[in-house]
Amino acid sequence: MKKILVSILASISVLFTFSLPTTTVIAADFISIGTGGPTGVYFVVGNSVCRMVHKEAAEGRKEGRKHGIRCAAPSTGGSNYNIGQISEGELQFGVAQSDWQYHAYNGSSKWEGKQYSNLRAVFSVHPEPFQLIAGKGTGIKSWGDLKGKVVNIGNPGSGQRGTMEVLMEKHGTSMSDFKQATELTSSEQVGALCDGKVDAIGYTVGVPNGAIGQAIDGCGAHFVNLDSNIEKALVNDNPFYAFANIPAGVFYSAQKNDAVTFGVMATFVSSADVNNDVVYEVVRAVFENLDDFKKLHPAFKNLDPKQMISNGLSAPLHDGAVKYYKEQGWM
Ligand code: GLU
Repeated sequence: MKKILVSILASISVLFTFSLPTTTVIAADFISIGTGGPTGVYFVVGNSVCRMVHKEAAEGRKEGRKHGIRCAAPSTGGSNYNIGQISEGELQFGVAQSDWQYHAYNGSSKWEGKQYSNLRAVFSVHPEPFQLIAGKGTGIKSWGDLKGKVVNIGNPGSGQRGTMEVLMEKHGTSMSDFKQATELTSSEQVGALCDGKVDAIGYTVGVPNGAIGQAIDGCGAHFVNLDSNIEKALVNDNPFYAFANIPAGVFYSAQKNDAVTFGVMATFVSSADVNNDVVYEVVRAVFENLDDFKKLHPAFKNLDPKQMISNGLSAPLHDGAVKYYKEQGWM
């Protein structure tokens, strides 16, 4: 008898083992969203999406909707790191700047030779100006003044690192023009700026942001305008850039002048390899609860569904997202 039982159990486990590949939907029910540094806005985007997904999962059970998706949104290296990990199947979603979404999908710039054509757009979130900030007493007033200074170019994988490299190329600036180029992450760089260890930092981030506030209001750092013909050409030549302005004294009380710069959109992306039902449920959770979502960060204040489904998106929309947008009559 015992022998029979053992052999039945063995055959069940064999069956179970062999039936695993058809249960990938269950495996995909745990989703990971790539964000950015813990002091950035991407971290709030990812965790807000998870919050809405979990809310729908809990409330949906009462109404008989049983998506049961569980979600995590860890801090990561940022845009290009997230897209890379999505392409490897390590993350199912990620937040990425509109410029890097474009380049990854088209195989241009940093993504030349590594085109990721299965990248899918889901929606866009908040605008992100590229912010060049110089420390108190550094005398840096324009890009040209970075010469001979310690400049944080950002960690590899971050969106700002990529955008900083684009700016350097367009301005004809090389690493050796700086006294030193550091690769601190977004959450490390403000401390280094305020301690005088670096003279300038670059950060593509939503407004307002606590770390930027710490620099401007906390230690007398200032924005450096990026409004030369070089930035004008970048905006005119590329669909994923737009002019941006951070008005004086509105978000950071110690900011004396408007910051004139250019920027991108933060976008939420995924892969064609991620199940349509999963993407549908995630999108549904966000849009059915958009009013709650918008309260989770001041940078989300102006989110509008019609713009979110097109602004800054260059990869095709994921089929699971399209299904929801069509149901809503938005497409
Ligand atoms: N734009 C940054 C990046 O792509 C992240 C900004 C944030 O964390 O809010 O790496």
